[in-house]
Amino acid sequence: MTSNGFVPPAARAAVEQLQAYSAPLEGRRSMLRLDFNENTIGPSPLVAEAVRGFSTEEIAVYPEYDGLRDAVVNNLLETGCRPGLQPDQVGLFNGVDAAIHAVFHAYGDAGERVLTTSPTFGYYSPCARMQGMTMDSIPYEGETFAFPLAAIRASLQATTPRLLLICNPNNPTGTRLAPETIFDLAASAPQTLVVVDELYEAFTGDSVLPMADFSATPNLLVFRSLSKTAGLAALRIGFAIGHPDVIDRVGRVTGPYEVNSVAVAAAFAALADQSYVDAYVAEVLRARDWTVEALRSAGIRHHCDGGNYLLVWPEKPVAELDAALRGEGILIRSMAGKTLIDGCFRVSIGTTSQMQRFMEAFLRLDQ
Ligand SMILES: *Cc1c(COP(=O)(O)O)cnc(C)c1O
Repeated sequence: MTSNGFVPPAARAAVEQLQAYSAPLEGRRSMLRLDFNENTIGPSPLVAEAVRGFSTEEIAVYPEYDGLRDAVVNNLLETGCRPGLQPDQVGLFNGVDAAIHAVFHAYGDAGERVLTTSPTFGYYSPCARMQGMTMDSIPYEGETFAFPLAAIRASLQATTPRLLLICNPNNPTGTRLAPETIFDLAASAPQTLVVVDELYEAFTGDSVLPMADFSATPNLLVFRSLSKTAGLAALRIGFAIGHPDVIDRVGRVTGPYEVNSVAVAAAFAALADQSYVDAYVAEVLRARDWTVEALRSAGIRHHCDGGNYLLVWPEKPVAELDAALRGEGILIRSMAGKTLIDGCFRVSIGTTSQMQRFMEAFLRLDQ
């Protein structure tokens, strides 16, 4: 209410029903951050150098993206992408979050359907609601959280959703899906845009890009980000890879300068130092083995599959354990309220010494 009795104008109906998507992201610096699956040791030294070397001229001018799409293509080819990928098949976004938002904006009309799995990455659902779309979330199956392939296939055929979102490996269950299966799904549903969120593929090697022929399956779109493995989460830069026409449509709904110049400079440096990322991934995989073995020998229920994270069911209520660990400067992510995994927490996997610190505190506090 204002002084003259006027109220602010209402937003679109779908927006009036929405709540701002907010993750608990304050006060995390200087803590051992095992809550958001970020790189836990920081990016390549070349990235820090590029950011530090930023000139006043570069700060004063609008961002320029010359050559960045080529650098992404070269990096993808270096890491196994099918030859022939062109720069116009790469979209640049202010993080994959912005790419998700843009895909919904470009492809999702009110009343249309989105098909996905549950539990999965939290930002798909508010984007669907923002568009007034109906969300069909099919639960993972059994103790191992297997991909609900038969149900996804049946729903895909029966409802022809506008979008199918597959997070592979899935955050937070780690569930893996073979790239061939994703091709089959895409080929069987040419009217559906099949979005494959591959932010954690470096930990599994299950990418569709080594085989993706976007002229044969133009309805396939792949997300990659520099946030998680490369350690650029603060700078916000992510990519969508697909058919040039799809990249063009998704690019139409974003502003002209959504990716900032610091992110561009850092991205060039990160993409040029793949060996740094490879070494980090190798360390995380060693730390994952160590952690799983430690949980097993302590007799603690856990679930670990793809990705740099795993699920743990503590003895204590999760909220209590979360607070106790936080008191020691260690952050985890409670899965309270999530379909199928209520009562557990997700812990990101960092280096072996970081996981040793986590396990020591966890075993001591969860009694
Ligand atoms: C972290 C995450 C994102 C968002 O990545 P940004 O590039 O940092 O926006 C998207 N999808 C999944 C599955 C994630 O875990």
